[in-house]
Amino acid sequence: MPVQTQRPAQPDSGRAYTKGLRWSGELRFLTFFLAILAYSLTGIHKSSAATAEAITGNFYLQTLLCWIPLWAVCAVASLPVSVYRFYLGRKFQLVKSDVRRWLWDCFKANILAFVLGASIIEAAFSSNTLVPAYGWIVAGILCSLLFVAVNRSMPWLLSLFYPVVPLPNLALREKLLRLVAKANLRVGPIFEWRISTRTRAANALVAGVGSARRILLTDTLMSTLSDDEVEAIVAHELGHCALHHVRKRLLLQSLIFSAIFGVIHLAVRSDLVAFVDQNIGWKDPRLLPGFILYWNMAFIYGQMLLGAVSRRQERAADLYSWKLIGQAGPFISAMHKLTDLNLVVFDKDSEWKYMHPATADRIAAAEQYARAHGEAISTASATVPVSSQGI
Ligand SMILES: [Zn+2]
Repeated sequence: MPVQTQRPAQPDSGRAYTKGLRWSGELRFLTFFLAILAYSLTGIHKSSAATAEAITGNFYLQTLLCWIPLWAVCAVASLPVSVYRFYLGRKFQLVKSDVRRWLWDCFKANILAFVLGASIIEAAFSSNTLVPAYGWIVAGILCSLLFVAVNRSMPWLLSLFYPVVPLPNLALREKLLRLVAKANLRVGPIFEWRISTRTRAANALVAGVGSARRILLTDTLMSTLSDDEVEAIVAHELGHCALHHVRKRLLLQSLIFSAIFGVIHLAVRSDLVAFVDQNIGWKDPRLLPGFILYWNMAFIYGQMLLGAVSRRQERAADLYSWKLIGQAGPFISAMHKLTDLNLVVFDKDSEWKYMHPATADRIAAAEQYARAHGEAISTASATVPVSSQGI
């Protein structure tokens, strides 16, 4: 059957929306950097450390207490950019939340950021004070375990923001379970992730490793795509499972974490972490703003490396999907629909900033596969000039 695909209806809107998102991401980092700089140059980190030392003699508790005002400053500094992103989402009719619900989601996201940040800080400071010679390696391992736990808990974490329930569509569930059996994989329940009251965007993801693997599909994905197209997207997610992509990403992330902590440890030892009068090493909660700055900068570079691996994995999962389904047509039409829905559009030149390859390239590769395997492609499916993120 000829593959009927359409050109995206809103490439210009997509480009404008993506440009706004990218600009706001850069602005977020700049405001974050300036906020930490202001926090430190005004000496708030010293007074908060003195207060923490007066409250408790426990160094790890002191560090945690010092994190509270720093986290609050970062949260307040990021608020204008969050407001702009909300406005952008409303302007392009992607976001459906009202202001009250959006504020509540922002609050919950900031609480999670506090907990995650506190865990990373405690891992770094405790490892480097308890095992000074190998602290950076221990901190890398602890943070990797933390990210494994976060990845494994993804359905629960998402359920803090949206209802996450076992897929209620029985016919689709049967179809997808047959696909899982065909792939000879063991996957836990497939979840429906109900985001349609907040956004029109659609997504699918696989979280966890081994028996803890879970596939999550947004309700917007299932209401927009046909069952065959959903099957093609799930086949892509099964490709991530079969090719052990999550495990490999977590392993690489673990190496990146150790490298980040190694660099920070070197900076602390060489007195290159600013904002302290006297360098007494890791046993000083005044190091906190400098640590957070180094961590975030190094994390961004680490994500670029991870992105290169991730894009290669996405291409491999695409190929796996076409082979498993036996055709590329449903995948092509699904990608066109998702481009229209999610509006995240970028060119191949900007691909290095993203975890996914340019969608135009993914569709072109799928069309090439279809032609090579005798699958008819309609002329309407000529390579699109745009690309989107997600899946
Ligand atoms: Zn993927």
